[in-house]
Amino acid sequence: MAPGNEHRDIIQQSAEAQPTPLVLLKDAVIFPRMRMNINIGRERSLVAVKDARAGSGQFIAGSQRQSSVENPGPEDAFPIATLVEIQSFEPRDENSTAIQIVIEGVKRVRLLDWVQQEPYPTVTWEALTEEEVPATPGKALARQAQSLFDRFATLSRRIGTEELESVREITDVSHLADAIASHIVTECELQQEYLSMLNPLDRLEKLCVSLGNEIEILELENKIRQRVRQQVDKNQREYYLKEQLRAIQEELGSDQASEVRELREKMEQKNLPPEILARANKEIDRLERMPAHSAEVGVLRNYLDWILALPWQEVTEDRLDMAHAQEVLDADHYGLEKVKERIVEFLAVRQLRIQQEQRRHQTAAHGHGDENAATNGNHTNHKGPILCLIGPPGVGKTSLGRSVAQALDRKFVRISLGGVHDEAEIRGHRRTYVSALPGRIIQAMKTAGVRNPVFLLDEIDKLTSDYRGDPSAALLEVLDPEQNSTFTDHYMELPYDLSEVFFICTGNNRYQIPRALADRMDVVEIPGYTEEEKIEIARAHLLPKVLGEHGLGKSQVQIPVNVMRFIVNRYTREAGVRNLERQLATICRKAALRIVQKPNARIRLSERNVEQYLGVTRYSPDKALEYGQVGVATGLAWTSNGGALLPVEVVTMPGKGHLMVTGQLGDVMQESARAGLSYIRSRAPELNLPESFPDDLDIHIHLPEGAIPKDGPSAGITMALAIISALTRKPIRSDLAMTGEITLRGRVLAIGGLKEKTLAAHRVGIRHLIIPEDNVKDLAEIPVRIREEMKFTPVATMDQVLKLALMPHKQVDRKGPDTKVAQKSPPPPVLVPTEVAVEGEMPPPAGPEPASETPAI
Ligand code: ADP
Repeated sequence: MAPGNEHRDIIQQSAEAQPTPLVLLKDAVIFPRMRMNINIGRERSLVAVKDARAGSGQFIAGSQRQSSVENPGPEDAFPIATLVEIQSFEPRDENSTAIQIVIEGVKRVRLLDWVQQEPYPTVTWEALTEEEVPATPGKALARQAQSLFDRFATLSRRIGTEELESVREITDVSHLADAIASHIVTECELQQEYLSMLNPLDRLEKLCVSLGNEIEILELENKIRQRVRQQVDKNQREYYLKEQLRAIQEELGSDQASEVRELREKMEQKNLPPEILARANKEIDRLERMPAHSAEVGVLRNYLDWILALPWQEVTEDRLDMAHAQEVLDADHYGLEKVKERIVEFLAVRQLRIQQEQRRHQTAAHGHGDENAATNGNHTNHKGPILCLIGPPGVGKTSLGRSVAQALDRKFVRISLGGVHDEAEIRGHRRTYVSALPGRIIQAMKTAGVRNPVFLLDEIDKLTSDYRGDPSAALLEVLDPEQNSTFTDHYMELPYDLSEVFFICTGNNRYQIPRALADRMDVVEIPGYTEEEKIEIARAHLLPKVLGEHGLGKSQVQIPVNVMRFIVNRYTREAGVRNLERQLATICRKAALRIVQKPNARIRLSERNVEQYLGVTRYSPDKALEYGQVGVATGLAWTSNGGALLPVEVVTMPGKGHLMVTGQLGDVMQESARAGLSYIRSRAPELNLPESFPDDLDIHIHLPEGAIPKDGPSAGITMALAIISALTRKPIRSDLAMTGEITLRGRVLAIGGLKEKTLAAHRVGIRHLIIPEDNVKDLAEIPVRIREEMKFTPVATMDQVLKLALMPHKQVDRKGPDTKVAQKSPPPPVLVPTEVAVEGEMPPPAGPEPASETPAI
């Protein structure tokens, strides 16, 4: 309280000193205009209130300094108190004398004299007048106090909405100060201090400071509370999650335990060889010890699954019945006698070996009195070369493999080795690699499900090797009967017995099979098919098969022989029958649609309506039978897809003696062309050519069909012939084709692939071939039927070629005087001797053509 105030208070003393009852409250102060609910229990206070009620209805409510004093005297009371008015008065409850009253503060008073003490104190008093409040600071302070109080109310949550509302409505500074004080000040002494302050601005200011402090404390409290709650939440969350994780692990743990049990049982039932079982059990032990969530669990489980999935002991019983085998092979495949014969022989040898083995075991069993020594014939190790079928695509190599399996009653699996260049593809990756798997061999064995399937290794000639290791070395271990009983895949790390597997390899080019592998193989070559054979295969095998695949009956789609021939010649040009099969499938697809649309329709193909099914024809007929032309010769090439025609064109033009060779030729052919030219220059006089001819002429040799890369040493005579024809302007007979390499001195050397080349010539209607003399021995390999239809003229020198192929000037072979196609059964083979004398020295022996990436010619 400011000192000046005291002075003013004294001035304002009034004369209302009438003795009034005084009730001293314990731990409470009532401010003017405030209401309060109080219980009165003390006897003297009860009497005082009753008397006051009976009188003016007012009494003075003061506070005692110490609440423990029961009968307070003047010295126990604070000097400033409040005159109050009784608002309501009622007994606390029926049986008690205590009462409950509601009082409202009227004004601040100062106690003067205690007039009486008993039965209750009465005092004289003076009213205290408050100081004036200047309007503006009062308003500003009131506003601030209001907002602080609002904030306080929100933070403390002690003040109800109604009370807050009533405080908000107060505009008078003194009233506002008292209201706020009564709400926020809880200590009696402090309340008393506010009651004594007669300057409302000072009071309110002090309250604002106090409110600010309170708010700060409350905010801090809130912050702490929030942090505590968050911490508690976090702890609770963690605890909850940990509990869940534990539950999941427990759950998994029990799963793993049951899985381990299951795995053990399965391993026991699987009838594994003892060493494999031991290893499997060791791995299961490891699995059991691993924590359920370890990453290695998956890897190990996979590995164990592989052990379970592989056929370790399972075998099928072989059917070693030669007659049955022959029957199956014949039923599935037309022709191929030699191949079928080889397969049946193969089976016969197997049978004998097995019998031999059985006898040996039986003797051994008798000799040693051991009943168990005799083993099932199937389970013995019969070593022998691996069957390898070599031929162009679509000649039935794969389907023969399938038939072998059927003939033997064995399962069939197949993998393609085309483009395999990584050893790991054959032998698998070690388990330490991420997502490692066994190699293709083991994967195929899993598919087979037995230890003794027929296993077809397709495209063995397309294996390549690079820095990742040589797959052929791994394949050697697979195929070598000495090693393959303990083939070890990198992933499995267990020896696997492949000795019971019947391996069959296939490929297009026998010279591209890795040497070490080729040594262990029994190669059976399947050349391409002739037109007649294709027609027969199509009618007897392909068409019924394709019809069946399309849900069609034999009578619903009919393809007469002449139409089949038309399809073979005009829609396909291949050594095998794969395209033919595709064309038939196209016909069946279209036919199926028509039959579905018109159920009773019967479709009969003719040369006229076949275009509706297959579109326009792809190949023109008998391309080779054109008129004799200058500078155009027909050579023959051998490619891994079978034989092919190789036309050679030559033109000469004024120039400076350059030789140009185009049409994707390899080095060997380029050299061949140069050798041919050198031969021609050396023979210029005999050929009636001026000796200096190359100096004023440019010669351009072109091999059309430029998309096929060509190389190899067998087009020498063809190119030389075409050059000579171009130089001499003599046309070349178009009804014959030729193959042979040329030496500088004009000798003709042997070539390879005569059989395929002959078939190619036959396919396009050429019936006369010029072949190197040294290849006559190979004629025996050509199918009899073809041989009978063809005329072969063996030659030793280029002069003989010229004599045979060059026509006199202006003579054009419109029909070809001695080129009658399909003579009636001439004695096979037709060898036409030529009058030209063979040069003195012997030709070098014919050898196979060198293996090369590009087709050999
Ligand atoms: P490859 O393995 O030699 O490339 P496929 O075995 O795939 O050829 O043969 C292609 C299709 O030709 C198969 O449907 C097959 O049955 C058929 N085929 C091939 N040759 C004959 C044949 N001599 N007799 C019957 N069908 C054959």
